[in-house]
Amino acid sequence: MFGKIHEVYSSISGEGISQGIPTVFIRFAGCSLRCGKTETRALWCDTAYALGPNQGEEKSLETVWNELVTLDSHHGYQVLLTGGEPLEGKNRDLSVAIAKRIYEHRMNFGRPYPAPRVETNGSEQITDDSFFVFTMDYKLPGSGMEDRMNQENFRILEKRHNSLDEIKFVVRDRIDFDRSIEVIREQKIQTNILYSPVHGEVDAKELVEWIKVDNPPKCRLSLQIHKVLWGNQKGV
Ligand code: SF4
Repeated sequence: MFGKIHEVYSSISGEGISQGIPTVFIRFAGCSLRCGKTETRALWCDTAYALGPNQGEEKSLETVWNELVTLDSHHGYQVLLTGGEPLEGKNRDLSVAIAKRIYEHRMNFGRPYPAPRVETNGSEQITDDSFFVFTMDYKLPGSGMEDRMNQENFRILEKRHNSLDEIKFVVRDRIDFDRSIEVIREQKIQTNILYSPVHGEVDAKELVEWIKVDNPPKCRLSLQIHKVLWGNQKGV
């Protein structure tokens, strides 16, 4: 069992309902989306360095597990599978294997955060397995990737009914925000909702004003705390 891993490191969770929790990040390499990129506008991906097919290193389940245990020998940190895209191609099999191993170990020993959180881009189908918690993006029109979204994922989230799952909307402009409201209503979303502004394109304070007016259920502004602490550094 192998997958392409870019890096494994410990820090704190930067966003969402788990923000600030000590976390081991398992960053997979490779993603077939290219968010924000048009003829005139730049890619906005935070992890552009991890997208290409030649990025990362083939690693086995045992290697990744050993790296995890070295960073968190007490199994007390949250574990975040991120990317790139952890559910794409053969990385998906490794994500399942890692998550099952962590879940079984932590359930046996009564450790916190048994199910690893998976940050997924919304194009790959999620699952109703209890060994995963999901932060699922829904890509809005400004990303140019909305047609890649897997609409079935909304039904799976509903069925999972997991209070730790969340849907993230990254907002480039007012058109994006209006579309998010439409999606929330059309899909009758009950999951936690995160709003993040595209850095340099929409002012977070303006986004707050929009959120205050529409106030979708269970929504919050989510700014990236690791950028406040460390800027654009990798591996923090
Ligand atoms: S889906 Fe995520 S990793 Fe892939 S290009 Fe978009 S922001 Fe980057």
